[in-house]
Amino acid sequence: MASSQTTDKGVIKPQCVICLAVLCPESLKSSQLQKHLRNKHLELADMPKEVFAHKGSQVKKQRRDSLRASLEVAWLIARNLELFSEKPAEETISTKELLRIMLINL
Ligand SMILES: [Zn+2]
Repeated sequence: MASSQTTDKGVIKPQCVICLAVLCPESLKSSQLQKHLRNKHLELADMPKEVFAHKGSQVKKQRRDSLRASLEVAWLIARNLELFSEKPAEETISTKELLRIMLINL
């Protein structure tokens, strides 16, 4: 299977682990996923299922890492935000700190 799942506005949709395209919910059917694989990634159509499972694990890890980095940045901005300040929220965190977070999590 060449897909992972993602949620869009409460609807579970398959996501191709190769091109990360979010497919329509009807594509959860194996035949529709095979159609996407053959149409978009014909060169990979005969790869063992383990290859796609590994790729799916990588996609999930990337999502977790991105979420962790976003939450850490949001936390730092919120922590450094001064009440009633005119200073934009994005200026409450230094570029150096932002890069450190991104490099640790990606
Ligand atoms: Zn694809």
